[in-house]
Amino acid sequence: MGASLGSLIPELQPFASDLVTVAGRAGLQPRITSTRRTHAEQQRLYNRYLAGTAQFPVAPPGRSAHEFGYAFDMVVTPMEALEDVAQVWQAAGGVWHASDPIHFEYPGFTPEPQFATVSAGDLWRVFAGPENVDMNLLETLATVLVTSTISIPYEMFRSILNAKPGDLNRLLRELVNWATRL
Ligand SMILES: [Zn+2]
Repeated sequence: MGASLGSLIPELQPFASDLVTVAGRAGLQPRITSTRRTHAEQQRLYNRYLAGTAQFPVAPPGRSAHEFGYAFDMVVTPMEALEDVAQVWQAAGGVWHASDPIHFEYPGFTPEPQFATVSAGDLWRVFAGPENVDMNLLETLATVLVTSTISIPYEMFRSILNAKPGDLNRLLRELVNWATRL
């Protein structure tokens, strides 16, 4: 797990190092325990949290400010002093909640939605235009898209937005599988 403040978004870095300095000057022996996390690290921590062996709350993968460099965790000695440190953090505009006292977050982070709502028309424009698209899949999609919008996983939505011609059939198959499972 990366514990370098340099992995955080640039806007957060000066505030983070200031907080470490302030806590250090107050004799609280601050220690950064987590900064930016990979998706896999978040998954591992989340599994531990689900298993009941985590000391502090852990967000599901894809939902944590850590994965986007918007948060760091810091412990101090004694731990009760975290509330005082938090006051300094909040006064500077930072986000902090007593439910996760070691977690210091930059304001404005909103996790990506887990699902995206797309219109059938937009999907049709992506898949129905190009050549070499599997017509059977396309026909299946047409029969499934009876409503004007469909909710699909955000990852799939992003893949479709960034689709290259060679990816279309694979994405179309994923989309049809998803839509027919509803
Ligand atoms: Zn945290």
